[in-house]
Parts: sequence; structure tokens; C-alpha cells
Amino acid sequence: MNLSQFPRRRYTEGQTPLEFLPNLTKALDGPNIWIKRDDMLALAGGGNKTRKLEFLVADALAQGADTLITCGAVQSNHCRLTLAAACKEGMPCHLVIEERVPGSYDEKASGNNFLFHIMGVAGITVVPGGSNMMQAMEKLAEDVRKQGGKPYIIPGGGSNEVGTLGYVACAEEIITQAFDKGLDIDYVVCTSGSGGTHAGLAVGFWGNNTRIPVVGINISRPNETQRPIIYKDAKATAARFGLDFPEEIVECVEGYVGPGYSLPTPAMVEAVTLMARTEAILLDPVYTGKAFSGLIGLIRQGRFKKGENIVFVHTGGSPALYHYKDYFGK
Ligand SMILES: *Cc1c(COP(=O)(O)O)cnc(C)c1O
Repeated sequence: MNLSQFPRRRYTEGQTPLEFLPNLTKALDGPNIWIKRDDMLALAGGGNKTRKLEFLVADALAQGADTLITCGAVQSNHCRLTLAAACKEGMPCHLVIEERVPGSYDEKASGNNFLFHIMGVAGITVVPGGSNMMQAMEKLAEDVRKQGGKPYIIPGGGSNEVGTLGYVACAEEIITQAFDKGLDIDYVVCTSGSGGTHAGLAVGFWGNNTRIPVVGINISRPNETQRPIIYKDAKATAARFGLDFPEEIVECVEGYVGPGYSLPTPAMVEAVTLMARTEAILLDPVYTGKAFSGLIGLIRQGRFKKGENIVFVHTGGSPALYHYKDYFGK
């Protein structure tokens, strides 16, 4: 797939590692587990939004923008990384924070919130859960315009047909690395949130004719609402290459959200702890901890067999871990 036709900023040198996890594989007594270390992407704290921002910020610059505006939840990694990209580009960045759990916004909170302040966020607007985020960002954009600036709005999670290109690029990176290692991948497993990661990987592995299925583990919605989100984004992204993406290959797995987005589950605590103790890799409570609890669940249900090769995509988020320390025992 010709990704060079789209403008791109480069924030990460080279590739992120694709590592085999021998201790974890042994502990789970199932398929061979590999991990794609996108937690090691560049920009402060790393994580999947860095790849999306390479294309989104390049698009913003191509349009002559001088200010970034985006939105996210209280401990948003996407907000942290958009702000980090803005710092790199010398642009101000405004954030609209959605208080999905009432009373959860605390100006003095640790984790990503702390990093918003260290990196000099231009402004934080807090809105109640369920607010129209696009409308709130448009309002900020209007203020920026009034002051003579040129705002660029990045949607929540950076998941649109521009940002999702970052995960088409990631699929191609994994294909190259697997070839170098002589690794024949049976499945790729990732988090399915705002959707760009899942959709971009699905488009990339399908568009390169690899026949490698991508399994997305939902972290906020049931399949009924998550699948259409992934399909819509994948279809729009594939269309940029003149391709017609097939809906039937979108696979989402539900059952690992627990009481709701960002709310801890015992399976998440088990997953984060197991990964830390076997491989010294930190997951996060909101996304990768739940996604990995889904992979553990699927292994225990017999979905993946011994001898198969699974690549789990680590999308980052560990800076949020410190905000959740009360949920983890000694
Ligand atoms: C945003 C995020 C995700 C979800 O990725 P989407 O592309 O929004 O589905 C997964 N993990 C981490 C750490 C994130 O910050």
C-alpha cells in the first residue's frame, strides 16, 4: 500500500521492537505470545497515538494550522501525546476533557493529567460526560480564530481516515519484522477503543494480502456499537487507497469491559500483574490491561492453540498506571 502519498511527520526513529515473550507464553501454557512494543513509540510517555499524530499533524501543517485542539477522557493518553506533538512543533494545544465518571476530574491528579501541566497545555476545558465533544472543540476553535490563529481539530483518539493511516503503517512494519524473524503470524490482537488502531491494522493486514486476522478487544462498548465504528473507519481509510474494505473481517470481542470504560476489573488487575511479573512490561488499567485480559480469556477458552503465533499490540498507556495504584495489592 502506498503510504508515501500522504504527508507524514516522523516522531519515532526506526521501528518499535517485536519481541517474543517466553515467560508469559510458558505461564499461560497456550500459543506463542509476541508483543509489538508500541508503548515505546516516541513523544512523552509513548503509545499508539504517536503513530496517528504523524499523519494528523502533517495534515494540520499542510493546511497551515498553528494551533491544535483535541479531546479525551480525564486521564487521556491521546491528549497527552497530542500536546507532546504540539510541543515538538512549537504550537499551542487546547484540550477538552470529558468527565465520563462524575467528579473524576481533579486538576491536581497524577498520571497524564500531571503531564498536561508539565508540557504547558494552553488550556483545559472540562465538560460533563455525554457532552457533544465536537461542538465543544468547535467553540474553542472559534475563539482561536477570533484571536487570529488557525486551529486544527483532531477528533477523540485521533481515529479518522487520516490518523488511522498510522496503523496501516504499523501493520506494514510488523509484516517486515515478521519476515526478518521468520515468524509466521496466526493472529494479531489489539485494543479496540476509538477504533483507529484496530481499523488501521485490519486495513493494513488485509490490504497487503497477508490473511492475518486482527482481533480487537473492546474496552468501552458492546460489539453491536463497536463493530460499526471499526468498519466505518476501516472503509474510509481503505477508500484513500482506492480499496473497498470488506465488513465481514471486522472482529470485535466483548465481555472484558466490566462495569464501564476506565473502571477496573479483577481480570485487568490479573493481566497487568502477570505481564509485569513474567516479562517486566507495564500495561495500563484502561486499555491494554483489559485487552490483555481478553487475550488471556480467549486462550483459556481454547480459541488460540499451542504452536500458533499471536502478536499482542501494546498500545501504551503506562503513565496512567500510577493514577490507579489503589487497585493493585502489594
Ligand atoms: C487510545 C488508546 C487505545 C485505543 O486505541 P484506539 O485507536 O483509540 O482504539 C489503546 N491503548 C492505549 C494506551 C490508548 O491510549
